[in-house]
Amino acid sequence: MVGPVPDGLELDHLCRNRYCVNPHHLEAVSHRTTVLRGFIPPKLMYNQAVQIVLRRMRDEKGSVISRGYGVGGNAVCDIMKAKSWKGARIDAAFLLALEQEPEVEC
Ligand SMILES: [Zn+2]
Repeated sequence: MVGPVPDGLELDHLCRNRYCVNPHHLEAVSHRTTVLRGFIPPKLMYNQAVQIVLRRMRDEKGSVISRGYGVGGNAVCDIMKAKSWKGARIDAAFLLALEQEPEVEC
């Protein structure tokens, strides 16, 4: 997340790595959501959401992926539509670009 935090919301750090400074790992959510996320263990961790996006970008079927992670197909859909784990698509696209970058000799 880049920009001011909307009124009434607070920042949640999606990857749970306290030393991370990646702004795309921040999501502005209500205090209620922050509290709930603290109590309810998430079905997916941030790095798994990134892996899901990568697998979808490589044309793997959503149903196969969701089964592998023990989540419903809607979870994969929500990640791909950036309804959840918003930064995951950006990180996956970055990883994919790195993989496809030709070797550079110096
Ligand atoms: Zn992070």
